[in-house]
Amino acid sequence: MEFEAVIGLEVHAQLLTNSKAFCSCTTKFGSEPNSHTCPICQGMPGSLPVFNKTALEYTVLMAIACNCQINGVSRFARKNYYYPDLPKNYQISQYELPVAEHGWIDVDTSSGIKRIGITRIHMEEDAGKLIHDEHKPISYVDLNRTGVPLIEIVSEPDIKTTEEATAYLKSLRSILVYLGICDGNMEEGSFRCDANVSIRPKGQTSLGTKTELKNMNSFKNVQKGLQYEIERHTEVLRDGGSIVQETRLFDPSTGATVSMRSKEQAHDYRYFPDPDLLPLKVESDLIEKMKLALPELPRQKRDRFVRDLGIPEYDAGVLTAERSLAQFFEDTVTIFPNPKSVSNWIMTEFMRAAKGQDPGTISSPVTPANLAKLLSMIEEGTISGKIGKTVFDEMWVSGKSPDQIVREKGLVQVSDVSELTDVIKKILTENPGEVSRYLAGKTQLLAFFVGQTMRATRGKANPQVVNEILLAELNKLID
Ligand code: ADP
Ligand code: ZN
Ligand code: MG
Repeated sequence: MEFEAVIGLEVHAQLLTNSKAFCSCTTKFGSEPNSHTCPICQGMPGSLPVFNKTALEYTVLMAIACNCQINGVSRFARKNYYYPDLPKNYQISQYELPVAEHGWIDVDTSSGIKRIGITRIHMEEDAGKLIHDEHKPISYVDLNRTGVPLIEIVSEPDIKTTEEATAYLKSLRSILVYLGICDGNMEEGSFRCDANVSIRPKGQTSLGTKTELKNMNSFKNVQKGLQYEIERHTEVLRDGGSIVQETRLFDPSTGATVSMRSKEQAHDYRYFPDPDLLPLKVESDLIEKMKLALPELPRQKRDRFVRDLGIPEYDAGVLTAERSLAQFFEDTVTIFPNPKSVSNWIMTEFMRAAKGQDPGTISSPVTPANLAKLLSMIEEGTISGKIGKTVFDEMWVSGKSPDQIVREKGLVQVSDVSELTDVIKKILTENPGEVSRYLAGKTQLLAFFVGQTMRATRGKANPQVVNEILLAELNKLID
């Protein structure tokens, strides 16, 4: 029997607000444990939450970008559970009335565009962090993250392959970063994903029993975890067994998933509307304001690069996948308005130099202004394209400007006819064998003479001028 996988993803994204969702503590990362806390986020009895309106604006932005319907009234709910990183013993979340529902995004896969439904986007608060001592049976609690605003984006079970899952996650992340509402850092946990997966016989419409995977902090690991789980489900069913609905933990060191706990049901959480918080009204004014504030999104930017700037589709996709890279490209083009040439340099030299870095956070010692300067030096003939690559590498290492490097290393292109003629005459005299074979009809030897000239000038000769002089000098020898 042939099986197909069904995947639904739940993404948590930390919002880049300055203060927390229900108190005025800062959301800054990496400070002294428990230094960013107050009675509200410490869960002190009697303290009252005050909602951060910026978190709502950010959520509405994402809802618009994901083509969702936005509910005029939504509601905060208490999700009750006990864990040491949750001082109130409940998380403020949303249950029956989320901010947004019924959306979708389009993602590109190797078999074309795929539309993936978004069930809902709701707001909630993050929990604190537990730090476990490796040597002693002790755990520490850090509440700095407690109360940081999150949105949860829940997909429909529309995803069929691990490739689609990765493409969907990358698109969501890219949109969040373009909107400037999340830094998208998976390793630091500001963008996290729980993956639900089941399998069913091909052609069946009802869903199989799912398992939920946690703890995958990179796109690679999501792919590995899902792949492992799809194979495990298939084996269990082929052997006549049945899948237990449960939550499983992905282990990055083995690539396997292990059972963590039986799946909790919604009723286990005893959701109820939070009596400390009023129903949340989303006025149409706010929605209109956010629609106007919506920046160009990655797919729109990609299509514009293809349509208006003549960039090949693949290159445009790479350039726009990360907002910072697209910005680098556009800043360079503003100064050096030849998009194709800028794109080529970024796709080749820049990417080669940045190899191994996370594309979202490439730290480039080469500024857009310096790349633009380099390209105009090549265009003006001050240096050859080949020398340009050497200069680029040097710029990447030292962060110096191209004119400084060219000056310091004496790399200015030699286009002076009399200077090059002297060099060429000498080369022709030193290679009589090649010259006579050229004259006898082996014209491919022109490349050999060009090569010799470039070598003699250490790559600085203007190749076009060299060609012209060579042809002229060799022609003279025919007579
Ligand atoms: P739960 O109540 O267990 O949280 P939900 O219905 O809220 O389940 O769905 C959570 C996520 O799991 C959603 O992304 C949804 O698309 C996905 N999902 C639901 N059922 C299945 C299934 N049988 N197989 C795969 N994914 C599923
Ligand atoms: Zn606080
Ligand atoms: Mg659910």
